[in-house]
Amino acid sequence: MIYFIGAGPGAPDLITVRGAELLSRADMVIYAGSLVNPALLERCKAGARILNSASMTLEEVVEAMAACDRDAVCVRLHTGDPCLYGAIREQMDRLDALGLSYEVVPGVSAFCGAAAALPAEYTLPDVSQTVIISRMAGRTPVPERESIRSLAAHGATMVLFLSSGMIPELCGELIAGGYAGDTPAAVVYKATWPDEEVVRGTLLTLPSLASHIGRTALVLVGGFLGGEYARSKLYDPAFSHAFRQAKEEEP
Ligand code: SAH
Repeated sequence: MIYFIGAGPGAPDLITVRGAELLSRADMVIYAGSLVNPALLERCKAGARILNSASMTLEEVVEAMAACDRDAVCVRLHTGDPCLYGAIREQMDRLDALGLSYEVVPGVSAFCGAAAALPAEYTLPDVSQTVIISRMAGRTPVPERESIRSLAAHGATMVLFLSSGMIPELCGELIAGGYAGDTPAAVVYKATWPDEEVVRGTLLTLPSLASHIGRTALVLVGGFLGGEYARSKLYDPAFSHAFRQAKEEEP
């Protein structure tokens, strides 16, 4: 069996219990070496074959998976959760074509790790109830209808992956799209790693404040980073829902 496993954002104890258990039983592990914390490989049993996919092509990865015995446990370890910028669809389609079975084990995405680092809530009443996850176009193009400029028009919470090398351009696009220059913005570098770093500013100040930040970082934008919001209905004493009756109003 082949398992695509989310390794989590960095801290080795942020893999799921299911992921850790499969990793400890794996006969072969192919890990995304550019981002997965190698400390996770300490969970592997002695004799497990360990490959770093950073230097492999899709064909080589699939070939290695296909070479595994049918009764062996093969783990494909992706950073964060495999469903975001993980390039797993192309692997799954090739495995389907070869008649090989696989399962996906979710993980903690970097955008969750970054929220924990801040700490912050992306969805605040009266601020934003929507999280837009996107990226600047790089060597991988982004469809024009999803340009940062057009997404910015929503004024929603935005989480930008794969874009920390282009912060000046990114902030320029966000402002061109409608965010005010004083909209709060932050960069979270290596969320949950020992060298995690948080830089806070606004769309106007972030480019200079975060100029030293490397590639493993997220850019976060929106009013959720500010001080204003409304309290939730869910925990409002005057609000009833399926699990709680509203308390009587004070006389
Ligand atoms: N599947 C992954 C994302 C892979 S794309 C996930 O769910 O998190 C790689 C990008 O993710 C990096 O360029 C960076 O933008 C972001 N990233 C990954 N780990 C991160 C971390 N610990 N802190 C901040 N950003 C991270």
